[in-house]
Amino acid sequence: MTDLSTPPDTLPLWTATALAAATGGTWHGLQPDHTPSIARIISNTRQIQAQDAFLALIGERFDAHDFAQDAIAKGAVALIVSRLIPDVAVPQLLVDDTRLALGRAGAARRASFPALQTTALTGSSGKTTTKEMLGSILRAHSSSAEVLVTRGNLNNDLGVPMMLLELTPQHHYAVMELGANHLGEIGYTTTMVKPHVAGVLNIGTAHVGEFGGRAGIARAKSEIFLGLDRDGIAIIPAQGDFHDVIAEAAKSFRTIRFGGDASNSDVYASDIQLLPTSSIFTLNTPLSTDQQSITVHLPFAGAHNVENALAAAAFAQALNIPLTTIAAGLAEAQSTKGRLNFIKHSLTDTQLTLIDDTYNANPHSMRAAAQVLTAQVGARLMVLGDIGELGDSAASEHRLLGHDLAKLPLDAVFAVGQFAQDTTTDIQGSPVQTQAFTSKDQLFVALTQWLQQQRDAKQPQITILFKGSRSTQMETLITSLETFL
Ligand code: ATP
Ligand code: UDP
Ligand code: MG
Repeated sequence: MTDLSTPPDTLPLWTATALAAATGGTWHGLQPDHTPSIARIISNTRQIQAQDAFLALIGERFDAHDFAQDAIAKGAVALIVSRLIPDVAVPQLLVDDTRLALGRAGAARRASFPALQTTALTGSSGKTTTKEMLGSILRAHSSSAEVLVTRGNLNNDLGVPMMLLELTPQHHYAVMELGANHLGEIGYTTTMVKPHVAGVLNIGTAHVGEFGGRAGIARAKSEIFLGLDRDGIAIIPAQGDFHDVIAEAAKSFRTIRFGGDASNSDVYASDIQLLPTSSIFTLNTPLSTDQQSITVHLPFAGAHNVENALAAAAFAQALNIPLTTIAAGLAEAQSTKGRLNFIKHSLTDTQLTLIDDTYNANPHSMRAAAQVLTAQVGARLMVLGDIGELGDSAASEHRLLGHDLAKLPLDAVFAVGQFAQDTTTDIQGSPVQTQAFTSKDQLFVALTQWLQQQRDAKQPQITILFKGSRSTQMETLITSLETFL
């Protein structure tokens, strides 16, 4: 599976000279007749193995130089430091800034494989999902060992070079997820990755505060094209908020547009069927020289996942992957924890399905999740935590959400958090039962009571969907409920 890191024995070794050249550092304590060969550059002593170099990062609340002796005790053969550690038995590479040294080492490793087909994607949401879908397509085209996909969420200024450091001569493709917590971060990581295909998925509302508005988010994401090969291909949304800002940033490249329809797009869906746990649609690629449409059976529910699949297909098309392989890869893609996972519990008197969509939330995906819930049979309850990072529009966005939920065929909506009252305001008076809670403990009591009522009423099927922004940790309610059952 993709969750395994590259086996250390397959990694090309760093010589002391190559590492100094890559990072711009100077060796101290190097014995000319006994220079280390370094397999991995590791920043956490908990992961150190023999032949690793320990790179000491400095964070807001820690200075990993404090762990240097620990690293040596665990077998580190060298240190990469921004201040020399006294009395150590291994050579030290002194650099001006260890974070930048990590980036330079990652960039050097990437540059040592000029034939590697590299893709980079960013966006406000759907990055991890899309990258897994694209990884699945590429694995259907070649073998797993030839595809490096960002593991987990290693998408920032530290995670991206760490992933690049896992490249080996075996890899033909790399799929890199790039995230941004501040302006300039994607410019920094894309320059390291030097993608042949780079794209922006969407512009949402996340981190509005950090970027000074949504146009600022669009500009920050569009930095991904700064690293794109001059002959590379830009993947851009055909429609959606700020798609024009993204198109402007990509205008000097060949572009492939995804989403939208025949009038504005190069990779779009038609005949979309959103089923209870999956989706079926026709994938259309008018730019293809051979077959131009194919039926896709996507094992993901939700309209937003059809959009993610279209983005993955656009990347694959840029890499000249045949349409039949794209459809086969999408059919085999696996969902990631916390993104619309279906958990079934057969109870004595009822079939209970818990839908775990707790990884994160935004106004768009809240609605998509609600639609998924309406596609389920039987009693349906939506359990919501707050949507974070909405700035001044938080109260009005939650109220609008409730306004839309009130129109859906749901049995109940329970909301918890600072904006729970805003969510429930417009649901009150509708056929949908609703309640706002200030704590998850309170909500849990109501949740178990509601469940008991359904069971007393002999409901043969019950579905409860859980969702909220990451900070709300709504998954704890799933754990509590499963313990209670
Ligand atoms: P992060 O910024 O945390 O790395 P991400 O961009 O990698 O997030 P995913 O992990 O794929 O995104 O999905 C997170 C959540 O975003 C999903 O659970 C879903 O609610 C929502 N989401 C996924 N795809 C989309 C999309 N295309 N449009 C809007 N929301 C989406
Ligand atoms: N660290 C380390 N060894 C340890 C503990 C910490 O190398 O035993 C370093 C490492 O770089 C880590 C950082 O210090 O990322 C912060 O550690 P902490 O445990 O606070 O956070 P976490 O590892 O969970 O990010
Ligand atoms: Mg992610």
